[in-house]
Amino acid sequence: ATPTSIMVGTGRGAELGILFRRGEALQLLRDTRIVALDKTGTLTRGRPALTDLELAPGFDRGGVLALIAAVEARSEHPIARAIAAAAEGEGLALPPVSDFAAAVGLGVRARADGQWVEIGADRFMAQLGHDVSGFAAVAQRLGDEGKTPLYAAIGGRLAAIIAVADPIKDSTPAAIAALHAQGLKVAMITGDNRRTAEAIARRLGIDDVVAEVLPEGKVAAVRRLKAAHGTLAYVGDGINDAPALAEGDVGLAIGTGTDVAIEAADVVLMSGSLAGVPNAIALSRATIGNIR
Ligand code: ADP
Ligand code: MG
Repeated sequence: ATPTSIMVGTGRGAELGILFRRGEALQLLRDTRIVALDKTGTLTRGRPALTDLELAPGFDRGGVLALIAAVEARSEHPIARAIAAAAEGEGLALPPVSDFAAAVGLGVRARADGQWVEIGADRFMAQLGHDVSGFAAVAQRLGDEGKTPLYAAIGGRLAAIIAVADPIKDSTPAAIAALHAQGLKVAMITGDNRRTAEAIARRLGIDDVVAEVLPEGKVAAVRRLKAAHGTLAYVGDGINDAPALAEGDVGLAIGTGTDVAIEAADVVLMSGSLAGVPNAIALSRATIGNIR
């Protein structure tokens, strides 16, 4: 790429709301073979809502919801906000909590009303020694509906299965279709439940799904996809995405995302829409010719 073509490309990008923080990104986008996307906040709105709550025998809805909302009030995860909003909507009073701890990518726990309250993924419950197999059929159904199943344990006993759902952004399906029309492979990398991720990927026609990864697992997944497919662009919005944004040949941050993601990215998409990804690739192809 010549300095002039890079200048023209980055200038045109700015008009389209695509900010290049590194000039080389234009060339690397031109060579891109696979686009790997974070799910929550990138493909989806990042604002899940509580959709389901099924109780184990001996527990009541208001009691369980108040306890888990009290614990989640200490977390900044979008799931925590969904649970807090549901409790607020039902006008529940939240007890004080102590000994809060978050297990990154797994769940949260704290003491409330004199007992341990634990909320999180099936993997978190397994670590804590709670058997969730009684809810297996419900969990499968929720996952197949594209909802995230979570479990709550209170006083050492499994109390409920909960689900949250995070709507796909309106702009996502067309952006995925545009990437496919450009001849690119599209992959999703997420810490979310496997069935949930696969249901969402199916709806969007995404080629490859890596699910249930911890934040450092996103980097390993990016490395693997690069080795298998070639030049890779990673798109994400969260603090968790910063290492993967750096590991991708090109990192694109959603402009409505966290500052940490924007700092780690080569390209910032000023709108919250994924349309910026195929637009950036089209721009790179238009401005950086075939001949280098
Ligand atoms: P991602 O942002 O890719 O969806 P995270 O690593 O943030 O993934 O979370 C992965 C999983 O960990 C969630 O789907 C959920 O099961 C569990 N989890 C994380 N934080 C919380 C929380 N505050 N409350 C309940 N579950 C949580
Ligand atoms: Mg995200």
